Amino acid sequence: MSSFIELFSGREDRERVLTEIVSSGLARCGVTLIAHVERATLEVLAVRSIPTPEPFVDGVPEPIGAISSLSHQLCAMATDIVPARTWTGDRWGPITGELVTVVCREGEAAISPVEEQFFWGWRYSNHLTAGFHGDVYVVTPGGWAGLLAEWSGCSPVLPVQAVTGDQSAPGVEWRQPVAPLPASPDDAGTAIPHAGDVVADSSGAPRPGECLLCYVSRMVLQFGCDNHLRFARQYRDARAPRATGLERRLANAGGFCDCEVLLNAYDLRPEHWLPALTHEEDGRTVIDEGERSPDSLPACTGVSTGSTQPCGLWQ
Ligand SMILES: [Zn+2]
Ligand SMILES: [Zn+2]
Repeated sequence: MSSFIELFSGREDRERVLTEIVSSGLARCGVTLIAHVERATLEVLAVRSIPTPEPFVDGVPEPIGAISSLSHQLCAMATDIVPARTWTGDRWGPITGELVTVVCREGEAAISPVEEQFFWGWRYSNHLTAGFHGDVYVVTPGGWAGLLAEWSGCSPVLPVQAVTGDQSAPGVEWRQPVAPLPASPDDAGTAIPHAGDVVADSSGAPRPGECLLCYVSRMVLQFGCDNHLRFARQYRDARAPRATGLERRLANAGGFCDCEVLLNAYDLRPEHWLPALTHEEDGRTVIDEGERSPDSLPACTGVSTGSTQPCGLWQ
């Protein structure tokens, strides 16, 4: 995402801040910690915890409702722990803090749908504070991993008493690790299971003229990401069966799964972002929040059949 600005400069400061957040006393299996971290000093100013919701994995009937409920929860929390941005006379104060999300759970120290739901939750939360929603991390008894920054490590870990002390932790269903890319495009048919085999409900075809990106975005919002290029392949199979190099091209751009296509490979063109939120105060226009991702995409501007290129909404 072009809107993601890395808070940390490397491993050391990242692990120090994660350790501090995990040591806050709130960390236990089944909760997610939201920490307000000051950008300039990397000081952890506040930590709150919420029960980790079940991720909207495949088959959940109303994932959009789930995202929206999580977004509201996150928005309320951000407003609670981060001060409103200040107006300094002639300009809007800078975003001074970052909201770091730390999912505490058992299992593999790798990003899963549990963590990804927070990316979407923050994206649709639109809170009006001096804190910017930053990266999402998972901390387990075995180590930690980051979602956007793609860092991982073995310290800090979730303390053992935080794991055994809570029997009510939600069960987390594990998905397969990212399937390796086939050695050559010819292997694609056998190397990777087709998503259509797994989920019947999410097999909706692209709309007439709809481009790859608008389709993947629409489907991921509705059904979530299964850590594969499920919808990208589904699109290719329906619209551009000759585009056998699609997975490789997307992976080269950082899109190893559908949500990463939206996170890394392409971005919505800035002109389609929502305009800044403003209000009038003492005859001046005050900017409450800069440009944001829209809650829903504008209509796809269309591509011709056989193309796997994005339409004009994307760059
Ligand atoms: Zn994904
Ligand atoms: Zn499009």
